[in-house]
Amino acid sequence: MSTAEGCLFCRIVAGELAADIVATTDAAIAFRDINPQAPVHVLVVPREHHVDVAQLAASDPALLAAVIGLAGQVAGSEGDGQFRLVFNTGPEAGQSVFHVHAHLLAGARLGWTPA
Ligand code: C5P
Repeated sequence: MSTAEGCLFCRIVAGELAADIVATTDAAIAFRDINPQAPVHVLVVPREHHVDVAQLAASDPALLAAVIGLAGQVAGSEGDGQFRLVFNTGPEAGQSVFHVHAHLLAGARLGWTPA
């Protein structure tokens, strides 16, 4: 499996850094964001290192589908199954950790004001 030296989320996947893990599969893990922006704010990351969702979609679309599938599963177990998925892609879009992650947001009526 591909990992990246010093990558925060690779370290969480490896169990080297603590995280509040809510679900796992062979392909991906889901853990609570330490700075939640909604009542349910869970990050879903592939175990394998990929920089962002565009790179993941190009190199392993089945793995991207596995990430989205786990997000849907967590949305069902954490709430009523309605949810938003956000993949910040690039610094200008707000990406700060360069291991692809889906922000799963749910648990409230969500606003729509990214700017
Ligand atoms: O999209 P972006 O790359 O900015 O998202 C990174 C997310 O990772 C942030 O929402 C931040 O709160 C979260 N984070 C975390 N646990 C860490 C470090 C960052 O949940 N140890």
